Amino acid sequence: MKAIVYDRPHAFRYTDLPDPEPGPAEVRLRVLSAGVCGTDAHLHRGEFSPRYPLTPGHEVVGEVESLGEEVTTLAVGQRVALNNRVSCGSCANCRRARPAFCTRLRDHGVTRPGGFAEMIVVPASHCHPADDIPLDVVAFAEPVACAVHGMDVLAPQPGSDVLVFGAGTTGLLLAQLLAGSGAGRVTVAAPTEAKLKLARDFGADETVVMDRDDSSASLGALRALAPDGFDTVVDATGALTVIEQCLPLTRDGGTVFLYGMAGERERVELSPHEIFSRELTIRGSFTQAFSFDRALRVLRTGRVRTDGMITHRFGLDSYGAALDAVRDDRGCIKAVIHP
Ligand SMILES: [Zn+2]
Ligand SMILES: [Zn+2]
Repeated sequence: MKAIVYDRPHAFRYTDLPDPEPGPAEVRLRVLSAGVCGTDAHLHRGEFSPRYPLTPGHEVVGEVESLGEEVTTLAVGQRVALNNRVSCGSCANCRRARPAFCTRLRDHGVTRPGGFAEMIVVPASHCHPADDIPLDVVAFAEPVACAVHGMDVLAPQPGSDVLVFGAGTTGLLLAQLLAGSGAGRVTVAAPTEAKLKLARDFGADETVVMDRDDSSASLGALRALAPDGFDTVVDATGALTVIEQCLPLTRDGGTVFLYGMAGERERVELSPHEIFSRELTIRGSFTQAFSFDRALRVLRTGRVRTDGMITHRFGLDSYGAALDAVRDDRGCIKAVIHP
């Protein structure tokens, strides 16, 4: 089969690998779509502890192609969304229902073979049947599962005034889940008007265009919307210049929610006194846990919409172009590989 393989940071090749064979409790999927996201850009640079040789690709939808001898829950030809994180179930974190921090995690697309390949072998237990959801919708299963878990972590208060920085995939998904979780008002701030239009179509109450080079006008607009600050400020950008704005825009007693992916070595300055005296909460969330079935439900019902979000499609042989789109193209919301 054809696959993307990294042997070290920055160096990937489009190459031939032997077709993988499923073990007794595994299935082999023919990959139908594999989303490219910021995680892949970090992996490209060697961040997030990849294990080499690595085939990345963690947002995988596939068709079941062959079954291990013990598999009775899936059928050949079925379309499934993959929960790519296979936790051990027995380490101290798994036993405390924190599989995200499993010390023996097998993470397809990070430490195990991922979906930027024609085929992938995965545990049958991590395949969620999705024949009834259009491919371009179920392609968002993994990012939506992460956003649903984000709602678990944030536990937003009904009626609260929420600001979301960022209108990429994660910003658009979080804004919809926040609106659907009873937020009193959802404001989305981002640099690209086309993305903000989608945010409004998806239910955002207010949108503010951020000028990346001169943020003073947009900050003034946000201050005018919430003179005492927002109850919750969500960073879905990972950009330090944005993260620095989160605390000042949060009202006393409010919450800053860090959801965007900053680099592992990046740092921001913050005032412990401000967090102490204003009783601020800073929370983070980065993955999915026990949230895949809920993600498929909100996609199935259209409670979370994704129409118009796939802006770029590539073949497996154009992985470099897909990475460039995710990193550099401001018009890119979701890039998808169709092997
Ligand atoms: Zn992702
Ligand atoms: Zn574990």
